[in-house]
Amino acid sequence: MLILTIACAVAGLCVGSFLNVVVYRVPRRLSVVRPASACPGCGTPIAGYDNLPVLSWLLLRGRCRSCDEPISLRYPLVESATAGLFALLAARFGAGWTLPAELVFAAGLLALALIDGEHFLLPRSVVYVSAALVAADLVAATIATRAWGRLLTALACGAGSFLAFFVVNFLRPAWLGFGDVRLSFLLGMALGWLNPWYLLIGFMAANLAGASVGIGLILAGKASMSSRLPYGVLLASGAIVAIFAGDAIITGYRHAVHGFH
Ligand SMILES: [Zn+2]
Repeated sequence: MLILTIACAVAGLCVGSFLNVVVYRVPRRLSVVRPASACPGCGTPIAGYDNLPVLSWLLLRGRCRSCDEPISLRYPLVESATAGLFALLAARFGAGWTLPAELVFAAGLLALALIDGEHFLLPRSVVYVSAALVAADLVAATIATRAWGRLLTALACGAGSFLAFFVVNFLRPAWLGFGDVRLSFLLGMALGWLNPWYLLIGFMAANLAGASVGIGLILAGKASMSSRLPYGVLLASGAIVAIFAGDAIITGYRHAVHGFH
């Protein structure tokens, strides 16, 4: 288990490095493959040995080797966050068929949340690629374990949440954009595979977080009733809450409902 957790953390560093590229380039409609990363200050291509996740940033003390231009702290932070999330998922699910799907899911959520937080945008390419990879993992898991009912549940949850979001978007486009509708399919599928209740918990956590943050910002005088919050960030956070706290919340709820006769 420890080896798996460490391996996932190291994989998370590398995936996080790629997510940095995705988060910067996709909203600017640039290719994620070409050209290779270069310093935004002097344009010098970044050598392989200066492109190691977190480590290079520390060794270079956050500055370009050629021109001393500062390199944003955001890069090592995203890499560390991905590594931390991957390690927690490894500890949560252990070795098995579910882990790869949830790792891909978490990486997709992190990229989408970062892009949505900055640009109020959930690029369809990122949603589609994440959903396709999660679906492929779940199909492979189903073939290996023959848990066809579980796959059907996951797809039904994806379709159900897509439909629910689609209706809200149709009736009140100002409340949530079509990016959120697409994202809801990915959420429904990945959470529905684990436990359909996680989906409900994820949506409730997202809306609760949105209401708390919104009221906090209004009280602090930093927002008004008409201000927007990036709903994709809230949905992604809610999904992470469901994955890690879902079982505890369900148990707590059962105790609260059935515990006092
Ligand atoms: Zn430079």
